[in-house]
Amino acid sequence: MNNENTNQYSNQYSIETKCIQSGWHPKNGEPRVLPIYQSTTYKYETSDEMGKLFDLEAEGYFYTRLQNPTNDMVAEKICELEGGVAAMLTSSGQAANYYAVFNICEAGDHVVLSSTVYGGTFNLLTVTMKKMGIECTIVDPDADEETLNKAFQENTKCVLAESIANPALVVLDFEKFAKIAHAHGVPLIVDNTFATPINCRPFEYGVDIVTHSTTKYMDGHAMCVGGAIVDSGNFDWAKYGDKFHGLTTPDESYHGVTYTEKFGKKAYITKATVQLMRDLGSIQSPMNAFLLNIGLETLHLRVPRHCENALKVASWLEQNDKVAWVNYPGLKGNKYYELAQKYMPNGTCGVISFGLKGGRDVSVAFMDHLKLVAIVTHVADARTCVLHPASHTHRQMNDEQLIEAGVQPDLIRFSVGIENADDIIADIEQALAHI
Ligand SMILES: *Cc1c(COP(=O)(O)O)cnc(C)c1O
Repeated sequence: MNNENTNQYSNQYSIETKCIQSGWHPKNGEPRVLPIYQSTTYKYETSDEMGKLFDLEAEGYFYTRLQNPTNDMVAEKICELEGGVAAMLTSSGQAANYYAVFNICEAGDHVVLSSTVYGGTFNLLTVTMKKMGIECTIVDPDADEETLNKAFQENTKCVLAESIANPALVVLDFEKFAKIAHAHGVPLIVDNTFATPINCRPFEYGVDIVTHSTTKYMDGHAMCVGGAIVDSGNFDWAKYGDKFHGLTTPDESYHGVTYTEKFGKKAYITKATVQLMRDLGSIQSPMNAFLLNIGLETLHLRVPRHCENALKVASWLEQNDKVAWVNYPGLKGNKYYELAQKYMPNGTCGVISFGLKGGRDVSVAFMDHLKLVAIVTHVADARTCVLHPASHTHRQMNDEQLIEAGVQPDLIRFSVGIENADDIIADIEQALAHI
């Protein structure tokens, strides 16, 4: 947030250039590469100077739990990739979604939640945040406007959904959701982890706030757990001041600062930084932010390759006799093909899912025979990896419960990497030969 050199560069370059150049802009004689500010604290000449920082009267760093220069440069890059006005890093994708919602919700409030969000997000909202007094209504993202409208209440404060759902691979109809959220005077928050800003920039379709698990494609190498929140700056908090009083009335814990008055379009991210990060402390380590930045530099090269490989693998699977079904929104004939063409014409993501004839046991046997492709609890890595939700992430459920949760017992979640697609297909072929 304090990167004074940002504006001269912002948004004038194409996304490939931003991946490389945004964020850190060294001055004369400074390091060419983003430095790791491995420091908890920052030195000042006078007590008064530091006092002003605590009162938010001056901008500057004072303690890494709130802000760190390395983190801020990387947040700035993600902000420019998404086309937002302010951004922050968090310790994980979970923390990003938690802060994004909790920044504008408190006990007694209500959230409209898409049913197909990532399991961790689903638990966060329906179990943990429920204990904090925040209720949610779960909606089918494919429901029509009339049905969706009924989910809203007087105390609804936001809508939360995913651009491409993990692992259901449902593509969100952004314009439908933005229209309904705005008609009810609340922002639309979208987790853009799977699509990444390379394939889709949700702000262009009316989304107000974007979150990321940077652990996935942004890092891309399975090195660092991390998250990010980006604000478009478009939602008018002051217009619905009663609803969002945390932003529009004085914060007594900061000597009465009113975020919307003092920080304008940066109100939401400033509040999340100085209030939530101060009190809850889910900061990303500067070392992880440094590694994330290296991942971001090649995001624009990796994402198209993931998509190209995923389409090849999905098309090959579709032709195979042993395969019962394939789900990939990049495949013609997929339920979400048209929506994907509209909102992410250059590609969707590298994750596909499929089931084998013979069901659950056959799926497991197949996975055990893979040699190149590794069984890991991860997606969106440069290396192809695979997971069987019924045996792993959803292991405690029986078949009936699995189907209710939208996870078919035979579903194999297959995250296609950036190796040579022929090698990936050959590995699948030899594993299929065993079953
Ligand atoms: C993985 C994931 C998360 C959680 O992120 P972590 O970095 O693992 O905390 C949230 N949303 C989506 C879509 C994810 O894939």
